[in-house]
Amino acid sequence: MSDVEPLRYHSTRGAGPAVPISQAIAAGLAPDGGLYVPEALPSIDPGAFDPQGALADTAATLLAPFFAGDPLASELPGICAEAFTFAAPLRALPAHPDTVMLELFHGPTSAFKDFGARFLAACLRRLPRADARPLTILVATSGDTGAAVAAAFHRQPNVRVAILYPDGRVSPRQARQLGCFGDNVMALRVAGRFDDCQRMVKAALNDTALQAQLPLASANSISLGRLLPQMSYYAHAALGWWREHGTPLNFIVPTGNLGNAVAGLWVHEIGLPIGTVRLACNANPTLPDYFAGAAYAPREAIATLANAMDVGAPSNFERLRWTFPDEAALRVQLQAHSVDDATIQQAIARHAREYDEVFCPHTATAIHSLDRLRSEGNNAPWAVVATAHPAKFESVVEPLIGHPLAVPASLAAMLARPAASEPLAPTDDALCDWLLAHG
Ligand SMILES: *Cc1c(COP(=O)(O)O)cnc(C)c1O
Repeated sequence: MSDVEPLRYHSTRGAGPAVPISQAIAAGLAPDGGLYVPEALPSIDPGAFDPQGALADTAATLLAPFFAGDPLASELPGICAEAFTFAAPLRALPAHPDTVMLELFHGPTSAFKDFGARFLAACLRRLPRADARPLTILVATSGDTGAAVAAAFHRQPNVRVAILYPDGRVSPRQARQLGCFGDNVMALRVAGRFDDCQRMVKAALNDTALQAQLPLASANSISLGRLLPQMSYYAHAALGWWREHGTPLNFIVPTGNLGNAVAGLWVHEIGLPIGTVRLACNANPTLPDYFAGAAYAPREAIATLANAMDVGAPSNFERLRWTFPDEAALRVQLQAHSVDDATIQQAIARHAREYDEVFCPHTATAIHSLDRLRSEGNNAPWAVVATAHPAKFESVVEPLIGHPLAVPASLAAMLARPAASEPLAPTDDALCDWLLAHG
């Protein structure tokens, strides 16, 4: 028997019972439509981590208090070892001695979503299910999440994955990648925007009549099983920097749904040596306007070159507000910078020309934000979070840099397979009908 006090999780909206972590992970969304958060964030001493440890070791130490008292607690080292089979290196840039890239695109689908998707899959594989019927995992994607979740669950028994993506708003390679899996993975191209896909998934998950006929789970960044593992690479990078330089590391995070940034902020809140976290956004103004002092106003997403950040209603905003209940303090602590498409293009072209460094359009929003800080005289150590490999966005990047990009091997293998997808109308009923027809 463990005498550890279990950490319990409740909804950002406050209703419903507090649950253990494995239940929160299995459920995805809380029953009242809110997002699960811990009763309180634990604090962790930087000295608790093995300085020689790999990313998986850092993750197991970091996440242990979050799983305390849960049946998954003893499995956590195994889950981390299974999920984090690739590195998240910090790579120095020649442009400035204190600029480093935190490269999060070395996983199977070449975007940072692999960390969360693989961890979630490793958790769900270990959770006992009372229901013998196959579990349908719903995922709304603006491009990268769907592929990562599909790769993580592909051919897993008794699980199928339905991916909803906005038709025509993902890159050609992303569309190929989403459709290449087959077997237990279905790609649905929705005649709408990412926000439609996200709303449809939330509606299905909240539909108790549908759930009674068909067990459903989510795999969006609303799931704690995706958010928590994303804390690992911030902790690993910041601890490594701190041991070497004795200073905290600051991070600029390309931001859409706020899942990646909230993970970084939580690492700061639990007491690890992270300085400032800044948000780099594309032309979708919801977060930049809010941090400039306007009231929070979710709206429809607009399509940009950084399509995985085309979000008008960031789903993790509720977690951000839970983390910083004092709005004035939150606006002091965080800044969000909006970067339009023309500036994204200029940033990609300039860094390729001057430094021979090629960035994806998402990473380019963060690089541009840092260029601005540097030009204002900021000489602090900054890590730019590189969220995807540029070869995933070749139709944007290659014309700007004037040469083809080498494609990572795992991405090339996916693109070589035949791809298939089905059309879907952008309504909650259309998804419900499709699920029942394919139950
Ligand atoms: C998902 C994604 C983002 C945005 O991350 P959020 O957690 O939604 O803020 C940024 N860049 C890339 C490449 C992504 O796939």
